[in-house]
Amino acid sequence: MTQKKDLPFDRKELEPSARERIKLEAIPYSYRDPEERIDDWNECRVAMTPEQAMAEATRCIHCPDPPCEKACPINNPISEALWHIEQGDFLTAAALYKESNTLPAICGRVCPAELTCASGCVLAKQGKGINTRGLELFVADYQRASGHHWLPEIAPSTGKKVGVIGAGPAGLTVAEVLARLGHEVVVYEAWPYPGGLLVYGIPTFKLEKETVFWKIDQLKEMGIRFVTNTRVGEAVTIDDLIETEQFDAVFLGTGAGVEARMNIPGENLGRVYGSTQFLVRANLPPDMLPESLREPLTIGKRIGVIGGGDTATDCIRSALRMGADEVTCYYRRTEAEMPGSTVERRLGIEEGAIIEYLTAPVEILDQNGDGNVDAMKMIRMELGEPDTSGRRRPVPIEGSEYIVEVDDVILAIGYWPDPSVSEGTKDLKTHKYGLIEVHRDTGQTSRKEIYAGGDNVTGPALVNVAIASAKVAARAIHESLMGEG
Ligand SMILES: Cc1cc2nc3c(=O)[nH]c(=O)nc-3n(C[C@H](O)[C@H](O)[C@H](O)COP(=O)(O)OP(=O)(O)OC[C@H]3O[C@@H](n4cnc5c(N)ncnc54)[C@H](O)[C@@H]3O)c2cc1C
Repeated sequence: MTQKKDLPFDRKELEPSARERIKLEAIPYSYRDPEERIDDWNECRVAMTPEQAMAEATRCIHCPDPPCEKACPINNPISEALWHIEQGDFLTAAALYKESNTLPAICGRVCPAELTCASGCVLAKQGKGINTRGLELFVADYQRASGHHWLPEIAPSTGKKVGVIGAGPAGLTVAEVLARLGHEVVVYEAWPYPGGLLVYGIPTFKLEKETVFWKIDQLKEMGIRFVTNTRVGEAVTIDDLIETEQFDAVFLGTGAGVEARMNIPGENLGRVYGSTQFLVRANLPPDMLPESLREPLTIGKRIGVIGGGDTATDCIRSALRMGADEVTCYYRRTEAEMPGSTVERRLGIEEGAIIEYLTAPVEILDQNGDGNVDAMKMIRMELGEPDTSGRRRPVPIEGSEYIVEVDDVILAIGYWPDPSVSEGTKDLKTHKYGLIEVHRDTGQTSRKEIYAGGDNVTGPALVNVAIASAKVAARAIHESLMGEG
């Protein structure tokens, strides 16, 4: 989104001036103390006050061609929104974010801004980057708390009908954009509630579920229909739906929800959990889960988490909140190669997480023979040549095996897309790891009436990346349905 032409202010006549603005004190995104937040599952962040928001927004020097906007995958109109916040006009700022981002209250909570918008801020080089994420969150929550009922204008019915498979950030975005344009939308979801990883993945201490459900309620009010507990591709295929529901187009927002396995002995022992299985049982009440996952989860004192990304950090922090004494993350490379948010990792360490680098399990052990894990055989690693990801490959050091005692093991080593959709849909092309092949500019798949976006196209990524690709697909679907493509 380019705002250059009609900004409500003149960059050259800012008051205070840019020179004065860069001297103002920064108000960073802040969190409750670790000793306090570790005792509950509530969000860790501390909300900004209106005065703080105005002061922080006043630090923005409103760069021409703002680099923060370019670094935001959704290209939020940050400069203009911050100017309204500076004036105290929070609702106008909230409306601006809403036009570019379908989920501002959610992105304000979970975006790793240090890797996206905030990394683009010219002041970041002096460690004083604008708290863009905190400001987006502040106005989104302000709008909600003020009782201001956001419901967009909906175009007259086009008579066209679109099926959306998957109710994560990608599916919800396509549903909202297309419903606003006057299309009838039905969303199918495998879990009991819509939300995708926003509900069945990201822990409540990062994102309280009420924020997601508030959004879903709005989408329902817009006329979007949700069909939950329905895994498309199994009992019913996409082609069945196209025929019976008379869909003019279908969007696949099915994510990448199949957990990778390590393929080492002992992986199927009791008390060895996949990350999703662990996170949903740790974070959600049983009535939000399918029957098979409702048994309450109890964990022991020493927990081993295998992996190094955001999912591993979320598992560690959940295990600490469940009362574990010692939670150790075992990662096969060094900190420099670790994926995911550095901020979230720091929060985990503050809460007591231990991270062991350059090590990996070779076997999960049941030494006392009761069917449950009680130890892991680990091996030390060193870094070799870069692999296809560009990161240096971990190479096992011969003879360096050692044993660690654990009560539970959580595997957080990655995700792939569910093959049931692609395998059950005629002529739908996939490529490596089962990712769906799409046209980059439209999200159109090898089937002309089927589009895709989000993690099932990119592989595990971020909420804002899923929203961005879904916006592209929604626009292309609309143009195709209206004969404009
Ligand atoms: C533990 C964890 C923590 C994360 N933390 C962050 C974070 O802090 N910040 C961030 O930006 N990103 C984070 N991410 C990544 C982010 O959640 C994803 O990139 C994003 O949710 C992808 O959106 P999506 O809509 O493509 O897929 P998803 O959110 O995975 O949604 C896909 C939905 O499709 C449904 N589905 C799949 N197959 C079918 C089918 N056949 N029929 C019907 N429904 C189906 C699934 O049940 C799911 O609800 C995290 C991911 C994980 C796993």
